[in-house]
Amino acid sequence: MNLKKNIEKDLFIADILSKNKIIAMVGASKNWKRPSNFVMKYLQKHGFKVIPVNPSNAGQDVLGELCYASLEEIPIKIDMVNIFRPSEFCPSITKEAIKIGVKTIWMQLGIKNKEAIKLGEKANINMVFDKCPKMEHTKLSGALGLLGFNSNLISSKRSVTKSPPTASRNGGIVKSNELETIAIHAGTRPDSATGSRSIPIYQTTSFIFDDTDHAASLFNLQEPGNIYARLSNPTVSALEQRISALDNGLGACCTSSGHAAQLLALFPLMEPGTKIVASSKLYGGSITQFTKTFKNFSWEAELVDVSDLEAVKLAVQNPKVRVLFAESLANPDGNISDISSLAEIAHGVGIPLVIDNTMATQVLCQPGKFGADLIIYSTTKFLSGHGNAMGGAVVDMGNFKWNEGRDFSKLTKPDSSYHDINFYETFGNHAFITYCHASVMRDLGTTMAPLNAYLTLIGLETLPLRMKQHMKNAEVIAKFLKKHPKVDLVSWAGFRESKYNKLAKKYFKDGFGSVFTFSVKKGYQGAIKLVENCNLISHLANVGDTKSLIVHPASTTHRQLNEEQKERSGISDSMIRLSIGLENYKDIIHDLNEALETL
Ligand code: PLP
Repeated sequence: MNLKKNIEKDLFIADILSKNKIIAMVGASKNWKRPSNFVMKYLQKHGFKVIPVNPSNAGQDVLGELCYASLEEIPIKIDMVNIFRPSEFCPSITKEAIKIGVKTIWMQLGIKNKEAIKLGEKANINMVFDKCPKMEHTKLSGALGLLGFNSNLISSKRSVTKSPPTASRNGGIVKSNELETIAIHAGTRPDSATGSRSIPIYQTTSFIFDDTDHAASLFNLQEPGNIYARLSNPTVSALEQRISALDNGLGACCTSSGHAAQLLALFPLMEPGTKIVASSKLYGGSITQFTKTFKNFSWEAELVDVSDLEAVKLAVQNPKVRVLFAESLANPDGNISDISSLAEIAHGVGIPLVIDNTMATQVLCQPGKFGADLIIYSTTKFLSGHGNAMGGAVVDMGNFKWNEGRDFSKLTKPDSSYHDINFYETFGNHAFITYCHASVMRDLGTTMAPLNAYLTLIGLETLPLRMKQHMKNAEVIAKFLKKHPKVDLVSWAGFRESKYNKLAKKYFKDGFGSVFTFSVKKGYQGAIKLVENCNLISHLANVGDTKSLIVHPASTTHRQLNEEQKERSGISDSMIRLSIGLENYKDIIHDLNEALETL
C-alpha cells in the first residue's frame, strides 16, 4: 500500500466531509438494521442534514426526514449524493445529480461504476467510491482511533467529539448536599471525548485556539477557557470544583503545595507595606513563611494568640492590616480557633478571615459556615490522604465585598496587565478566584501538576470514610496514651478537660482530629528514643496519611523557630506529634507500647 497516496485520499475525503453538509441518500432504508439507516443516523448525529431518496418510501418519514422519490423532487440545495444502490444504477443517478448541481457523488462501500465516475469527473464533481462516509468520518475524527485504529493523520485542530446521549430525566443532573456524594462526584463527569468514567490526566502544557478571535477572547478574559497550563488545566479544575463543593464555596484555585496556597491567597490582598495578623499557634513552616520569607515582599506579620480575642481586636485596628489568618485545628497541638468570633472581628474592620482547614478538613469543619471568607488547604495531607501528592488549595466563599472595607486595590483598581480591567467590577464576586488564575498563577507559577490533581481527586473520593476511621482510631489511642505511666499531657481535644473541647463541639462534627501531641516524662532524650523505637508508625514530617506517623517537632518541623516562638507555638522539648492512620488500632497501640517500654 502506498502510504502517501492513502494520505492524499484521506485529505481529499476530510475536505469533502468538512464542506458537504447537506446530503441526499439514494436508497435510504427505513429498516434500522440496514447499513443506509445506520449511516444516515450517524451522519445526522454529527451535524449533517440527510435527505432520504427512495421511491418505495416516498412521502414517508425516515429518521425524522421526509423521503423523496427522486433527487429532482428535493426542494433544497444538496451538496452531496450518497448512493446506496447497486453499481449498475450509478450512471443514471449521477446524471440526475449533475442536473441538480451537487459538489460530490459518493458511492457506498462495495459500489463502483466506471461510467458514473467518468461522467462525474467530466462535470467537475468530486467522485468517491467504495467507501462509507460513516467509517471515514469516525476515522478522521479520531473516534476509530479510540478502538485502536490508526488514521495515519496528524492534526492540531480540535477532534470532533461524540455528542452525549440525551438524558432521560432532569437533563441527567443530580443535586446533593451530602459530603459522601460530593467527594466522589463533584467536578468529574464522564469525559465528553472518550466516555472515560475516571477523569483523564490532561498531561498537556497548552490548549488549542479555534481561531485568532477565540485566542483574543481568552487572553482578554472575555471568554472562560484554557490557554496555558500554568494558569489552568482541566484535571486541576476538576479538583478545584470538588474541593470548593465540599466547602459549599464559590470556587477554588489549586496550587503546587499548601505553602503555595498561602502565598496565592494572600497575594491578591497584600501590597508592600501592608500587614498580616496571624495566629501564633500556626504550623511552624507557616510561621517561618509569614515572618521571614514574606518580608521580602515588604509584607509584615504580627503573631497573636487568637484565643485572646481582645488581643486580636487590638492587632487588627492598624489600618495596614489586610487579613486575619488562623488554623481551624492547629498543627501540631490541636488548638481550635473560635471562627465566628474571629470572623466578626475581621469583618468589623473590613478585612477577610482566612482559615487554614488542613487538619480538620471539610468532614469535621466547614469554616465558611462560620464566616471565614477564604479557606486554605494543604491537600498534601488528608485531602489526598495517601502521602503521595503535594498540593494546596484556596477556596473562596464568595461573600467578601472587596470594594468595601480596607483597600484591596489589586481587585478593585484597573489592572494594566489586562487592558485596565477592574476585576471586581468585571467579575463581581468571582473576582478573587479569577485573579488567582489569571494573574497570580500567570506571574508566580505556583501551579499544581495534573498527576497530583488526579491523585488528590481519587484520594478525596474516600475522604469522609477515611476521616471517620481516623477519628475512631485517634480516640482509642489518645485514651491509651493518657493512661500510660510514662506519658504526660495528651493534647487531643476530645477530652472533656481539654480547653478546646467546647470549641470543638461548636465547630466540629464527627470527631476531634487525629493529629495531636503528647509529652513523655523523660524529656527531650526520651522523646527522641520513643520516636526511633517505633516500627509500625513511620518517623517522618507529614500528617494525614493512611499510615500512622510520628515526629518530634522540637528537632524537626519547628526547629527553625527561636525559643520564644517555640514557646508561643506551644512546642516543648518532650513533645511528640502523632498522626493516627488507618491501621488496626491494636497494632498502633502495640507499637507505641513497645516503644514506650524502651524509655
Ligand atoms: N498548613 C498546615 C496546617 C500544614 O500542616 C502544612 C504542612 O505541614 C502546610 C500548611 C503547608 O503545606 P505543604 O507542606 O503542602 O506546603
